[in-house]
Amino acid sequence: MVGIPRTVLTEEHEMFRDQVRRFVETEIVPHHDEWERQGIVSRDVWRKAGEQGLLCPLIPMEYGGAGADFGFSAVIIEELARVNATAVGFTLHSDVMAPYILRYGKAELKANYLPRLASGELIGALALTEPGIGSDLKAVRATARRDGDHYVINGSKTFITNGQNSGLVIVAVKTDPEAGRKGISLIAVEDGTPGFKKGRNLEKIGLHGQDTAELFFDDVRVPVGNLLGEENKGFYYLLTELAQERLVVGIRAAASIEAMLERTIAYTRDRKAFEQSVFDFQNTRFKLADAKAQSVMLRAFVDTCLALHLKGELTPELAAMVKLKGAEVQGVVLDELLQLHGGYGYMSEYVIGRAWVDARVMRIYAGSSEIMREIIARTL
Ligand SMILES: Cc1cc2nc3c(=O)[nH]c(=O)nc-3n(C[C@H](O)[C@H](O)[C@H](O)COP(=O)(O)OP(=O)(O)OC[C@H]3O[C@@H](n4cnc5c(N)ncnc54)[C@H](O)[C@@H]3O)c2cc1C
Repeated sequence: MVGIPRTVLTEEHEMFRDQVRRFVETEIVPHHDEWERQGIVSRDVWRKAGEQGLLCPLIPMEYGGAGADFGFSAVIIEELARVNATAVGFTLHSDVMAPYILRYGKAELKANYLPRLASGELIGALALTEPGIGSDLKAVRATARRDGDHYVINGSKTFITNGQNSGLVIVAVKTDPEAGRKGISLIAVEDGTPGFKKGRNLEKIGLHGQDTAELFFDDVRVPVGNLLGEENKGFYYLLTELAQERLVVGIRAAASIEAMLERTIAYTRDRKAFEQSVFDFQNTRFKLADAKAQSVMLRAFVDTCLALHLKGELTPELAAMVKLKGAEVQGVVLDELLQLHGGYGYMSEYVIGRAWVDARVMRIYAGSSEIMREIIARTL
């Protein structure tokens, strides 16, 4: 299909894409329906992905990662989006959670956890949201009280991706409850620590294969060495790291639109109505042309942001823009593409329907569209 040349990814990235695509086709696609029925993926696939070097590509080799750049992460994100493999929470694990351990963890913490995250032995989660607090992160209520060489954590979290499967969770807590954003710290908690419990697997309208859980902390004692970075600097670390998470949403959106557009073109060429192919109705061709133009425009913006991120120059405002527009354009375009499938678009066995419902959350998590607008508006 016509488009614009992609210059941000190298030949090496594209060679890696072949490996990722093979893995996705053989180890993920055949099991995806079953995982969606179960509401969780098997731990096996994590181990296999770890063996193939598909987890935590950014982690240096000394810690068992690939020591690669974010372009390799982008390839994984794109290949998962291509087949709407939303059940596997690799991205949250590799590109959102693990970087906190890498950047802010003390030497011992890194040596203990990073190799196990890279191998898939431990699955990572990031627990910020609480039942009463989501967008306004500075208001988190979970607390960590210092007691000798330990922190004692109390509180609860909800909507946590990889929650059921998680072996290591980074928890946002107040270490100075009176200090607002200046009182937040990030602490790593291992599954099995007494007082740490996982609640039910939450039932969602989409992302059926992804385990999303409530987490409870009742006098959970963790060594002070599990603190990431400095005490009370957690909010600052979140602001710094959220840019990458928001770029992830943009990358996924662009790849999803491209893949679903291709599928829709094929479907409408094949499908007949009124003795002609659905593709040949002017309405269909115009809708597809619009989708194509939107897709190319988003690709140009996403790749520009990716190139900036590779140079360490992606600003929070641009990250907010790529997240906002990626999520919103994806919502609009997938809705049109689903429509062109008629009733089959509404059937779960067609990827377009599942991609449409799974995409809805992109406007909500990693900072809602409204919060993205706030961030952008502040810079005007
Ligand atoms: C499937 C799924 C997976 C998730 N995974 C994780 C995870 O792994 N870890 C984690 O910590 N969280 C996770 N979340 C939580 C997610 O980040 C929050 O749901 C999101 O940040 C919104 O918070 P909230 O649900 O409390 O909504 P609220 O903050 O209550 O917002 C409600 C509405 O008010 C709007 N609003 C809020 N503040 C403003 C404002 N200042 N101006 C204008 N409008 C505003 C919001 O945009 C929204 O439309 C996940 C959520 C889902 C659904």
